Amino acid sequence: GLPTVVIAGRPNVGKSTLFNRLVGRRQALVADTPGVTRDRKEAEAQVRGRDIRLIDTAGLEEAAPETLFGRMRASSEGAVEQADLVLFCIDARAGITPADEHFALWLRRQGRPVLLVCNKAEGRGGAAAAMESYALGLGDPIAVSAEHGEGIATLMAEIADLL
Ligand code: GDP
Ligand code: MG
Repeated sequence: GLPTVVIAGRPNVGKSTLFNRLVGRRQALVADTPGVTRDRKEAEAQVRGRDIRLIDTAGLEEAAPETLFGRMRASSEGAVEQADLVLFCIDARAGITPADEHFALWLRRQGRPVLLVCNKAEGRGGAAAAMESYALGLGDPIAVSAEHGEGIATLMAEIADLL
């Protein structure tokens, strides 16, 4: 099958916006309500001429565990198991949260290749969060703005390099 790329991270960091940006069509419903992802969660996309299967994970699960980290893990662990690459998204505007830190630790233990994506990095303030995110131990952050399309070509090149 196609290489599987999974987009993971806290609710509201812009996972579905990034999914739409990478797919290039309005396929996933992006909502202002944190964690709301309905409609399609999986699509084919192309990065540098390579076909990939892209999966968007939602923040809300039925029978959700009570912690945010628990919900993040529950909503993404099935997808991460199938992942050839995980795009772990953080929010440059919000900075690194404890849930991000717990999720990063868990993700490192899964043994899958991970790209750290620092979203909402348009304008000022993006650089600070990117610097802070080195502490997550997931390598160099890639600063993007899924909404404005900034950094997406660089991200696509990094994805293609890792597949
Ligand atoms: P998800 O819950 O992680 O799937 O996040 P969504 O994709 O639904 O986005 C949550 C909110 O963040 C929406 O209001 C988006 O418009 C906004 N958002 C997404 N990407 C960006 C970005 O690059 N910059 C800014 N400023 N806002 C963004
Ligand atoms: Mg979403």
